[in-house]
Amino acid sequence: MAGKNAASLFIALVWFAFGAPAVGQNAVPPPPPEPLTRGLPPTPEPPPPPAPPAASPPVTLSPQTRAFVAVEPGSIALTHVRVIDGTGAPAREDQTILIGADGRIAAVGPAASTRPPEGARVIDLTGHSVLPGWVGMHEHLFYTATVDAGGEPAFLQMSHSFPLLYLAAGATTIRTAGAVQGQTDINLAAAIAAGRRAGPEVHATSPYIGRAGGLIELSEERGAERMRAAVDYWAGAGAASIKAYMQATREELTAIVGAAHVRGLRVTGHICATSFAEAAAIGIDNLEHGFIAASDFIPNRQPDVCPQNPFAGLASVTTPAAPEAQALFATLRARNVAITSTLAVLEQFTAASPPPRPEALQAMSAHSRTNCLAQRQQTAAQAGDPFRPLYEREMAFELAFARSGGMLLAGSDPTGNGCVIAGDGLQRQVELLVAAGFTPLEAIRIATLNGATFLGIAARTGSVEAGKEADLIVVRGDPSARIEDIRNVVTVFSNGAGYDPTRLTAAARGWVGIR
Ligand SMILES: [Zn+2]
Repeated sequence: MAGKNAASLFIALVWFAFGAPAVGQNAVPPPPPEPLTRGLPPTPEPPPPPAPPAASPPVTLSPQTRAFVAVEPGSIALTHVRVIDGTGAPAREDQTILIGADGRIAAVGPAASTRPPEGARVIDLTGHSVLPGWVGMHEHLFYTATVDAGGEPAFLQMSHSFPLLYLAAGATTIRTAGAVQGQTDINLAAAIAAGRRAGPEVHATSPYIGRAGGLIELSEERGAERMRAAVDYWAGAGAASIKAYMQATREELTAIVGAAHVRGLRVTGHICATSFAEAAAIGIDNLEHGFIAASDFIPNRQPDVCPQNPFAGLASVTTPAAPEAQALFATLRARNVAITSTLAVLEQFTAASPPPRPEALQAMSAHSRTNCLAQRQQTAAQAGDPFRPLYEREMAFELAFARSGGMLLAGSDPTGNGCVIAGDGLQRQVELLVAAGFTPLEAIRIATLNGATFLGIAARTGSVEAGKEADLIVVRGDPSARIEDIRNVVTVFSNGAGYDPTRLTAAARGWVGIR
């Protein structure tokens, strides 16, 4: 294939990895730059971390939810277990974790000296490890159910299957980082919090504000006033955070961030028309997808325009040691802007990604399974694996950013080609952090305590510590030595109730792509 066409195909294949605008031949042309009527207003002070939701009292689980519970809440002792506490500290062998009837961790200590109280249910976990429940930061309750012949994804709401699969994989908290059915996500969050449905604690983010550039499910509104109104609407409706999107100009992003911060909500963005450094100066709190989405490095970049090839920036900076990369890291650190790693969805656009796990394929509807396999085949046929160098560079940048003291978060982004699904995708994301060069203990911290810290809920979840909610994953094996042992999930505790991953997975089987 001729170079130009190959490049267009490559970009078209990749764009929906992010749910991003088409930038290939069918692209909606970017709007002309909108002249700023005034200079950027002074940077607003970043808000304090959002007030944590009231500590969840033990809730009464509905019969429907209780059907997934294998270990009833109450006084529980997990004995002789390896504890990976989520702080990055070395694993501790032969520990006992006491869980109280209030759903909280009462004590963690050496098995020899930590006695189960009278009447506790004692579970001997020799050979097992306990780690904190995942705090997934780029999750969705919708999914690429299929990609049509023209390359356009169909994003369908997965209110039934995704909460079950997230919980089954050990996610006890998720931030949705963008909604297609904003009200449905908000209502689901409430239903799970009330015990009516099984699932992780959901921090429901607003729909995408800032124009998609052609995705049929998303808004195409323009102008700072409209965007401010959208933030007000979704904040009033109960969204826990705001998602800024691709085509938002500096003026529009300023309106989004200002309106959200007034409401005490944080803003995350998958941005393109605005650079990471500009967004940081405007006061954004979090940026999605890592440095591959940064337009900062694009040669001859036009302000307020999402360029034809959004990956040209990372393509032009070969190493995180480059001065321009180091300068961006410093800006993000100084402004406390967190970066969310979404390697699992990016991996699907490399030609040599490992095949989907059988469990993931079984979770899909017949149609979505066929779609995923066909999409993979198309990507595998690309000569020379054109995306791999960028993907590997993205890994190197994330490692360097975090090691420089930057705040890295983790999420699976179950969109892309339809092969990344709730739960399985998040486990893959943690494995890929290790592939990027993080130690297993660092990767686990990024996907647990870092997320809880960003969300302002680290006082009650995100690590294995006395006083916190018993949000725990019990696995066979030792993920501190073999990260893939995170997949051997035996029980997932959420607020002290022990869920059976087999029952959760069985209830979702065949529904991914349908509901
Ligand atoms: Zn996404």
